[in-house]
Amino acid sequence: MADTAVKVSGGKTTKTTTRLMITKMVLENFKSYAGPQTIGPFHKRFSSVVGPNGSGKSNVIDALLFVFGKKAKQLRLNKVSELIHKSAAFPTLEYAAVEVHFQLIIDDEQDDDAFEVVPGSEFVVSRTAFKNNTSKYAVDSRTSNFTDVGLLLRSHGIDLDNNRFLILQGEVEQIAMMEPKGKTLPGDSKAKGEDGLLEYLEDIIGSNKYVEQIEVWSAELDTLNEKRIEKVNRMK
Ligand code: ATP
Ligand code: MG
Repeated sequence: MADTAVKVSGGKTTKTTTRLMITKMVLENFKSYAGPQTIGPFHKRFSSVVGPNGSGKSNVIDALLFVFGKKAKQLRLNKVSELIHKSAAFPTLEYAAVEVHFQLIIDDEQDDDAFEVVPGSEFVVSRTAFKNNTSKYAVDSRTSNFTDVGLLLRSHGIDLDNNRFLILQGEVEQIAMMEPKGKTLPGDSKAKGEDGLLEYLEDIIGSNKYVEQIEVWSAELDTLNEKRIEKVNRMK
């Protein structure tokens, strides 16, 4: 989620790396959370949610998935209205809403906890679910939609297509069980076999774009080596 920003200080212009962080989330009537409840502020790098079974930890992740545009089915529900908190004390709430507060920061190289906020970079993405199973999006309280929210989040490097920024409970095991290296189909190096941990990591890091070129140059290197050996032998 890194970006470049130009920083001007004391007449000197320097390029710095900025990145997006979530400062806090505000859940209102969302699943087990009745009324408005603020979760955060989060640390810039590492925050953990702890609590007994059934206390609402996974519901926090569901809240993120909801704002990031997941459909009811992907949230393990049939209808978005099931997201609205329902309890003996609050049997007839009309909506459930989640706000995710973002800001761009510049990390302090000297201090692991410190950072500078890029002025004016704060923005809030929210989504509200209603009783009639409709939902609406907003960016900074202006009405938005699924497509524009997706574009905004992708423009900040949030990989909504692969969802690798969110590893869910069952997926941890799935990753841990991966073969070290994926299997390519025999006779065709370009045919996609099953991905292994190597391919998975290369995809995340972005080095997968070099794989094909490395194969081309490796073949070229083999050819040149053969020629070289042939010439060395002739000279001998
Ligand atoms: P575990 O440690 O077992 O994974 P958890 O902390 O992740 O637990 P969650 O799955 O986040 O727990 O929360 C489950 C709780 O949320 C349940 O008690 C469930 O009754 C409550 N819940 C879910 N949807 C609603 C709703 N619409 N209204 C009220 N409570 C709800
Ligand atoms: Mg859970």
